[in-house]
Amino acid sequence: MIDKIVIANRGEIALRVLRACQELGIKTVAVHSDVDRDLKHVLLADETVCIGPASSLESYLNEPALISAAEITDATAIHPGYGFLSENADFAERVERSGFIFIGPTADTIRLMGDKVSAIKAMKEAGVPCVPGSDGPLGDDDATNLRLAQQIGYPIIIKASGGGGGRGMREVHSEAHLLNAIALTRSESKTLFKNDMIYMEKFLEDPRHIEFQVLADQHGNAIHLGERDCSMQRRHQKVLEEAPAPGITPELRERMGKICADACVRIGYRGAGTFEFLYQDGEFYFIEMNTRIQVEHPVTEQITDTDLVAEQIRIAAGEPLSIKQEDVVINGHAIECRINAEDAKTFMPSPGTITHYHAPGGAGIRVDSHIYSGYRVPPNYDSLIAKLIVYGKTRESAIARMKTALNEIGIEGIKTNVALQQDIIGDANFQSGGTNIHYLEKKLGL
Ligand code: ADP
Repeated sequence: MIDKIVIANRGEIALRVLRACQELGIKTVAVHSDVDRDLKHVLLADETVCIGPASSLESYLNEPALISAAEITDATAIHPGYGFLSENADFAERVERSGFIFIGPTADTIRLMGDKVSAIKAMKEAGVPCVPGSDGPLGDDDATNLRLAQQIGYPIIIKASGGGGGRGMREVHSEAHLLNAIALTRSESKTLFKNDMIYMEKFLEDPRHIEFQVLADQHGNAIHLGERDCSMQRRHQKVLEEAPAPGITPELRERMGKICADACVRIGYRGAGTFEFLYQDGEFYFIEMNTRIQVEHPVTEQITDTDLVAEQIRIAAGEPLSIKQEDVVINGHAIECRINAEDAKTFMPSPGTITHYHAPGGAGIRVDSHIYSGYRVPPNYDSLIAKLIVYGKTRESAIARMKTALNEIGIEGIKTNVALQQDIIGDANFQSGGTNIHYLEKKLGL
């Protein structure tokens, strides 16, 4: 039913989608900005369409240009990847109204989950454990807000309902700072997200970030594929991910995974999705749902022997899930290091020409990357240039493989964070497993 897909993205994820399409025998259309003609997937696609200049606003976020690309190539569907328009409900609606299949959930679901207050409400009703909080948006009454915070107990966090990318959040450690923090977050939220709805949550002091991968089809079936630990973060940005999460028992995995899959059925979810939780003192607290494929999806693919992007496409075509819950068996351990074009110390992006590239190899090594020797990393986009994914029968063997792979990878001409990843992989506490979301920043002295 789907015979040609427009890949509305760039870089490694566009290549990942292209590979899935090719394996499924589906034709591909690569859309690109005018500085992205040399992207690997553009060179490999069946058809290409230049959709605008370098600026994302005029290219990868240019909705009319993307729809036109689908029209002129007579495509059936649009895959949004991650980032850009992947969680934009209006775009999903526009795609479907124009007669194309949006490879993702319905616009209504994206809208529901994109607004954190409504997402938390829906999840609570579906029996998903959430962070104790205001149970809805904060009003203007100071006395009520002060009382609410006191009931929840300090420290608390004020969050923008429309927030994303780690922005629009403010911790409050004592009553004296509450009203000011509410006012600041509200006005920031209005400016950044054109939405002044904010809410309050208990601030968890040393949680881990653990998320569950789900797949749901259009016939009422939903499954989970276990969890990933993404606690190694800097500025709320994930740096290294692994699956399964150290210390999570099969019983806990089954219980939480089932809660997530059941919630999908209840809200009529379709496609691939991720339930993000903070995990502290043995308890899970839902923080948000991502309604798209995620950067870190390969670690789940490696330990479950699945192809999540192919599943997304099958689901969008109306097919039932090709895997049942009982078919999902977790084997071994996988780790992903995000390789960024950035300065290892200052974290400033480091665009430029890659004069030499040597990919690591060997058993259990997977590299998802669009780079090659001579490729120029443009300054206009995200600095992720490669994902180095390793698989091992045990966590120890995965760590050993990652060490070897990081030693072997060679990227010259630009700066990368390979040394930072080596530092993390060699860290005794990381090796013990279960470090929390603040660990990396503390280690780096930030
Ligand atoms: P975004 O959509 O901006 O990524 P999230 O709600 O997913 O926002 O939160 C991002 C990060 O902020 C979390 O991974 C965590 O580090 C921190 N955070 C969010 N809510 C809380 C909380 N209640 N307690 C402690 N940290 C939190």
